Amino acid sequence: MSNDTWKSGTVYLNRRALHDEKLHIGLMNGISPSGDSIVLSGGYIDDIDEGAVIIYTGQGGRDAQSGRQISDQTLERGNKGLAQQYMQGNPVRVTRGSQLDSRFAPPSGYRYDGLYRITSYWREKGRDGYFVYRFRLERLPDQPPIGQLALSSSPSTRLKVSDPPEEYTITPQRELTTYNRLLRNSAIVNHVKQLYQYTCQICNVQLNTPAGPYAEGCHIRPLGAPHNGPDTIDNVLCLCPNCHVLLDMYAYTIDHNFIVMPHAVKLRVHHEHAINQSHIAYRNSIVGQS
Ligand SMILES: [Zn+2]
Repeated sequence: MSNDTWKSGTVYLNRRALHDEKLHIGLMNGISPSGDSIVLSGGYIDDIDEGAVIIYTGQGGRDAQSGRQISDQTLERGNKGLAQQYMQGNPVRVTRGSQLDSRFAPPSGYRYDGLYRITSYWREKGRDGYFVYRFRLERLPDQPPIGQLALSSSPSTRLKVSDPPEEYTITPQRELTTYNRLLRNSAIVNHVKQLYQYTCQICNVQLNTPAGPYAEGCHIRPLGAPHNGPDTIDNVLCLCPNCHVLLDMYAYTIDHNFIVMPHAVKLRVHHEHAINQSHIAYRNSIVGQS
């Protein structure tokens, strides 16, 4: 399913047309049942649309009338589908509707804007005080700019746009400098790895390669928007790749006594390594399951 059989920039008349073309299954939900497609149409005030980067709110727990959040979201249905696409590294199709409050919204109908990948997900308290799931998506490279209309021989369900307004074709994409490729191998990370001689603080494994030992730096409070964790020693752990993935995908959690659950092993902490409890507390506030 990684093939993009739908052309980025194609505009469809309505949700029925998206469904009939199998671009987005379902007529109501923003997330397709398998999580392989999302539609942005302005349902959630917490959504952020920067064009190539999207912070997308999961589904569920909302009052149908007011649109307000009235209960916690759970990691089920579309939310679980998106989390699984993330774990499997699959791209997700993104379509924007004209109701979307974003300068990237199409003037009418629903525009398919190509493939994105989910780079992280987490849980947080939304504006109405209930937990919501949020997904960060980044647009894959080598696609036409957002808003550039696809030249296609269109089926009748596709919206005919004969003369797109100027901004429609030249929508500028914001630079990704604040989001993309945050430097992972900083001097800070390397310092922490050396403190532990590249041995995992959770499982004590040291991976040896011909080029020397390998470990990964894990930021307890994640770097980058919207978490904005600092790249400081008190926010970095030295982990093996397995433990890093398990922590990032919320299979492991660390409590304030540095006990790693569910195996109840104590995080090994070097005496020169002061870990900031507030970063642990932050991470625990965004864990994927309650
Ligand atoms: Zn480990």
